[in-house]
Amino acid sequence: MKYAKNILETIGNTPLVKINKITKDIDALVLAKVETFNPGNSVKDRMAVKMVDDAEAAGLIKPGGTIIEGTSGNTGMGLALVAINRGYKLVCVISDKQSKEKMDVLRAVGAEVVVCPTNVAPDDPRSYYSVSKRLAEETPNSWYVNQYDNLSNAQAHYEQTGPEIWEQTEGKITHFVVGVGTGGTISGVGKYLKEKNPNIKVWGVDAYGSVFKKYHETGIFDENEIYSYITEGIGEDILPKNVNFDVIDGFTKVTDKDGAVFTRRLAKEEGIFVGYSAGSAIKGVLQLKQHFKPDDVVVVLFHDSGSRYIAKVFNDDWMRDRGFLEKDVKHAEDLIGAEGELITAKTEELVSHAIERMKKHNISQIPVEDASGFVGSLDESALFKAYLEDKNISEKPIKDIMQSAFPVVSKNTSIDELSKLINRENKAVLVDLGNKEFQIITKHDIISAI
Ligand code: PMP
Repeated sequence: MKYAKNILETIGNTPLVKINKITKDIDALVLAKVETFNPGNSVKDRMAVKMVDDAEAAGLIKPGGTIIEGTSGNTGMGLALVAINRGYKLVCVISDKQSKEKMDVLRAVGAEVVVCPTNVAPDDPRSYYSVSKRLAEETPNSWYVNQYDNLSNAQAHYEQTGPEIWEQTEGKITHFVVGVGTGGTISGVGKYLKEKNPNIKVWGVDAYGSVFKKYHETGIFDENEIYSYITEGIGEDILPKNVNFDVIDGFTKVTDKDGAVFTRRLAKEEGIFVGYSAGSAIKGVLQLKQHFKPDDVVVVLFHDSGSRYIAKVFNDDWMRDRGFLEKDVKHAEDLIGAEGELITAKTEELVSHAIERMKKHNISQIPVEDASGFVGSLDESALFKAYLEDKNISEKPIKDIMQSAFPVVSKNTSIDELSKLINRENKAVLVDLGNKEFQIITKHDIISAI
């Protein structure tokens, strides 16, 4: 009979899967190491076991002891599987910005979850760094894991993930591309692959708001590079000991939006339901495409499962709130939102009336009509020019200073045609929506849409 003696034995030997559609413009074979197939649904199962193995061997933790780690996610899950099978208690210290689902998942696998406030400095006694450290000091027979500086993390990937990739590609791999957080994955896999073949190029995928790329390129730890970002799992505001810059050839940074959009594309176009950092990783591959030749074999690693991001990347409202949903803007009608009734002025009204209306509605141009329809327009720069010529302009009728009418287009006019109609003289176009209804599109609307 073939069976695993416990769940831990099922960790590793994850499949390598060809990416077909997203990478069609890349002249190389792109293969994804899909780590979702691990029992805890992420690559972190591998290093969780290795870190506990090494701690046991070094006598850092004894039977019945307590494992303590500051983790909200994948590492906590991996450690939980080990703790259950080896009879340890697990305490996960997490910040209150994490979702309730994440806390519930950790509790489901037996972890005790300690929640700390997010908005306090790292040295504040309430911060999750301080609380983890204090709990480790106060709890007898406990061990603080510290995945950032615990080198068993990278070693797990040197011993497992690297050799698996080498064997699965029959030594033909030419490039390895992967997101970098603690640095364990890239450093362990990178070291192994470079020992096998020093010509293999190892690329890290970094987030905007993280220090890695600049530090690698210049040796400068630039605090200006640090700002908050949305991407999860990759990028840091510290230099973890697990990042071995010597085995990394370069970094590419992927935006929060691109990472999210490509995570959705992996699910929709490849049927690979993976997490946010996988979207960043595949976008990183596309950004690096000029480095690949037709016979190259590029391996990209996907860290975790899409199920952790249901309420985020896979939720349309979440995406929309952050401006990540790509609206297909092709025609005039795609640019029209819920603007309400078109604001206009009449030829016989005074210029002061038009100015008042423009101020009230916060608009920079206004169509002018008479009984026959649209016959003119006014915009800020024309008003300004007219004022310079005649200081009493506001008491004149609009028809004395109005410019030519905005062109009227149909709903189906392409954005290209529309853009050509908007120029120095002509600041807007009117879209005929039928039933004598019109809406206005300005240069600003087109720029906002792109
Ligand atoms: N992606 C996700 C989802 C992760 O949880 C992590 C771990 N922080 C990474 C990428 C980066 O992996 P590593 O820590 O091995 O650099």
